[in-house]
Amino acid sequence: MQNLCRLCPRDCGIDRDNTLGVCQVSSKVKIARAALHFWEEPCISGNNGSGAVFFSGCPLHCVFCQNEEISHGKVGKEITIEQLADIYLNLQNQGANNINLVTGTHYIPAIVDSVKLARDKGLSITIIYNTSGYEKVESLRMLEGIVNAYLPDFKYWDKSLAKKYSFAEDYPEVAKAAIAEMVRQAGPLQFNEDGFIQSGVIVRQLLLPGHTKDSKAVIEYLYKTYCDNIYISLMSQYTPMPQIAEKYPELGRRVTKREYQQVIDFALELGIENAFIQDRKVAKESFIPEFSNEI
Ligand code: SF4
Repeated sequence: MQNLCRLCPRDCGIDRDNTLGVCQVSSKVKIARAALHFWEEPCISGNNGSGAVFFSGCPLHCVFCQNEEISHGKVGKEITIEQLADIYLNLQNQGANNINLVTGTHYIPAIVDSVKLARDKGLSITIIYNTSGYEKVESLRMLEGIVNAYLPDFKYWDKSLAKKYSFAEDYPEVAKAAIAEMVRQAGPLQFNEDGFIQSGVIVRQLLLPGHTKDSKAVIEYLYKTYCDNIYISLMSQYTPMPQIAEKYPELGRRVTKREYQQVIDFALELGIENAFIQDRKVAKESFIPEFSNEI
């Protein structure tokens, strides 16, 4: 029987082994990079690094994507479930604090199988699912008991922005339901004795230039809904990619110090205690990892 893919909210309903859907990759796992990664929040990266596995392809396709080559599935290597499990074990052996699965939405069944297999072979570190937030609740349910912590984005409050920049008008509603499911599964944020995340949810909000109002609306919703049971990571690292200003002139610059400070002040005024704030120096292209098939 044909397996028609409806894993994510794009609901393509196609056989990925014969044709490609929005995510632009077949059902065979393809990864662009697997290596220790040092640029996540301190409770994820620490000094040893996070064991990041970057999956090729993406169902969202934001116009400002920093990793376009991989999100369009152009770079990467196809691997088996067994190889994926061995990659996790190898990262654990290298001293990774956790396994950080980056944009795995379109490979959830393979993630489930590979984590089970790796755990049988001795994988014991925290599994983090790092996502755009554009996820179906039914698919996330497959990850219950597999993933310990979630690291979703909440990119837009305004559906017209979601349509304009990610071609997904339903993003705000989808992300709200997805984050609710993540919090249900992973509970309040817990750290181990060394200060590294063990379980829970950290929601990332990337401030876009000129869009402080949208960021504030996301932050207000998250705090009113979850209080300090989740952490909110306020990100200022938006980096305009070449050519973006041709079609989207408003996105052709970095976020100003003043814009970022406005968002931080808003979060503090709300009373948020559990937040990560970014050093603006990270808004440099050099902090975007090279995707060189380092697997
Ligand atoms: S995972 Fe890919 S093929 Fe499946 S519904 Fe989403 S975008 Fe479409």
